[in-house]
Amino acid sequence: MRTTTSKALFKQAQGLFPGGVNSPVRAFRAVGGMPLFIEKAKGSRLYDVDGNAFVDYVLSWGPMILGHAHPAVVKALKRAVDKGTSYGAPCPLEIELARMIKDFYPSIEKMRMVSSGTEATMSAIRAARGFTGRDMVIKFEGCYHGHADGLLVKAGSGATTFGVPDSPGVPKDYAKLTLTLPFNDADAFRAAMRRDGKRIACVIVEPVVGNIGCVMPALGFLDTLRAETSRSGTVLIFDEVMTGFRVSRGGAQEAFGITPDLTCLGKVIGGGLPVGAYGGRADIMEMIAPEGPVYQAGTLSGNPIAMTAGIETLKVLKKKSTYPAIEKTMQHLAEGLKDAAAKAGVATKFYRAGTMFCTYFTGVEVTDYATAKTADTARFGRFFMKMLEQGVYLAPSQFEAGFVSLAHGKADIDATVGAAYRAFRAVR
Ligand SMILES: *Cc1c(COP(=O)(O)O)cnc(C)c1O
Repeated sequence: MRTTTSKALFKQAQGLFPGGVNSPVRAFRAVGGMPLFIEKAKGSRLYDVDGNAFVDYVLSWGPMILGHAHPAVVKALKRAVDKGTSYGAPCPLEIELARMIKDFYPSIEKMRMVSSGTEATMSAIRAARGFTGRDMVIKFEGCYHGHADGLLVKAGSGATTFGVPDSPGVPKDYAKLTLTLPFNDADAFRAAMRRDGKRIACVIVEPVVGNIGCVMPALGFLDTLRAETSRSGTVLIFDEVMTGFRVSRGGAQEAFGITPDLTCLGKVIGGGLPVGAYGGRADIMEMIAPEGPVYQAGTLSGNPIAMTAGIETLKVLKKKSTYPAIEKTMQHLAEGLKDAAAKAGVATKFYRAGTMFCTYFTGVEVTDYATAKTADTARFGRFFMKMLEQGVYLAPSQFEAGFVSLAHGKADIDATVGAAYRAFRAVR
């Protein structure tokens, strides 16, 4: 595989950006490689600056559910650009996108558009704190909710030890307000809530944990979160930035039949442009300025270009035929990957939720952060490189979910499964 141009560009980029990138995982460090610079993307394919083509399972980390440069989205965007790119004033497109979101997520009575998932989660937490008048937050190990200060925290030694920041630059005092518990441990959660519930403003969770691969909630776990938070007047926030429109069209809340108080969305609702949204119960959202006292704002929030990409994407997702088609592709890929690993004699655990998936290089059932960490990351790194060399672009880390799109066809999947069999054999 030719990488001369990417190498030269990466050298320049390293002088300009920390680690040569504008978001850390892109640097390929977790797989011991060097990032490829992308020239263009179309359908299921990425094309790099050295003329290599790849079947893409990263899909910009989830958003490109229709595939890259979907004709309807591109056409609408071209038209929208002619009308100006940002007004800093209300526009009808905001209403159109919000209505579509509400149709799929009936738990969202009122919402606010923002420009990223990080903004959505950090603002939802502020809303919950303002609403309850409490400061503490519970999150779960391995769940990623963007890079806001109080959320870059994992557990200390005991399950309910006060939080220790994961990153320098996050004040310890701030991190102390975040309690981190193991995902899927209903008993630990119940105990924490029975003890501290009245001090907890909100519980935030990725209902399927996509940021350590693809970890399913155990039967009843999400129900316990709902029951215990209701009991103590704590706001339950589903961070569906990744799972929204992925686990099912109505997200994990639809798939598991749980109604959260607030929901965070991002990724898919922007159709590849920077959009996030948070919303839910009207009484909580009415806390947000200018209706209420909790301040939150955004210069480019609800801008017409981003709204257009979201609207056009959701229009396609609304069609009856869309989800069955993507799910069928996912099913085909899931069976193929599981088969390929088994035939090659490599111990793996495969998980899938709707159109997101992960193959873990472990023999252990993955149910939380600790079991995810049993995966052999060095072996994954070698597998990743073998796939890349064969034209398959996976997320450059064992602990990321993969995604399929409407643009992935049978030929893509067959080629991927063939490549996977050879790659599994090579890392046996
Ligand atoms: C990606 C992601 C975020 C952060 O969204 P950004 O747009 O990258 O800020 C938050 N929560 C979850 C679950 C995510 O997957």
